[in-house]
Amino acid sequence: MPELPEVETVRRDLIRSLAGKRIEQVKILNAGSLKGATPKGFIREISGRSFARFGRRGKYLILHLETGQALVVHLKMTGVLQYQQKGDSLPKTARIIFYFSGGGRLVFSDQRKFGSIELVRDADRIPSLQKMGPEPLEKEFTVVALKARLGNRKRPIKPLLLDQTIVAGLGNIYASEALHRAGILPQRRAGSLTAPEIKKLHRAIVQVLKEAIAARGSSVDTYRDGQGKKGWFQVKHRVYDKQGTKCKRCGGTIVKEIFRGRGTYWCPKCQR
Ligand SMILES: [Zn+2]
Repeated sequence: MPELPEVETVRRDLIRSLAGKRIEQVKILNAGSLKGATPKGFIREISGRSFARFGRRGKYLILHLETGQALVVHLKMTGVLQYQQKGDSLPKTARIIFYFSGGGRLVFSDQRKFGSIELVRDADRIPSLQKMGPEPLEKEFTVVALKARLGNRKRPIKPLLLDQTIVAGLGNIYASEALHRAGILPQRRAGSLTAPEIKKLHRAIVQVLKEAIAARGSSVDTYRDGQGKKGWFQVKHRVYDKQGTKCKRCGGTIVKEIFRGRGTYWCPKCQR
């Protein structure tokens, strides 16, 4: 499932391939992938437009149209946004296709159909975006801000990191990797973290996300970048999907257990 580094990689790719181009035609192969408009209304609103800005909030991609409207894209489990040239073969799971001036096309494909593209009048007023915590790579995400949001919470730290209200954009991969780097057990009560641990966690979150963006994301399943290519950060994972292997820090053995409904990975020797 694409998390912040994967969505950010796609965003940067789209800037390169779509800036200045005009949407000439839209083909909707699966109406269920659309939100906020009927297929007819969607086509009417965005045909002839171009994107003015390519934004991101957490795991959402926000494609701002020159009209002030925006397309909010959530890739969810298996969504892929990829720019193709005319002769390229169309993915079998293509759901929505945008044809651009100059002959290229942007294909939204989605095997499991949980992803969506939503047409919104005001990108600042989407309920799911409003509850979201700070962007981890922006100045607003400080140790103090993280500490304040964790407060005295009784919930375990890992599910809390996944729920988007403490910090935006983390999913199972990067929450697991950040907790390992910080030496914190995923099951620890958030309120029990000491000040030095919160500082370590803050640094670990920022570092792992930056490194993953530099590696163009993790392709553990269907994730592909804006050009249809795989990322390679999965080779740097230290705990995610590494059960049974040796911990790179302490030599302990990485374990996996289902915790609060999610596969959870950690080193029992150096995470406390
Ligand atoms: Zn270890």
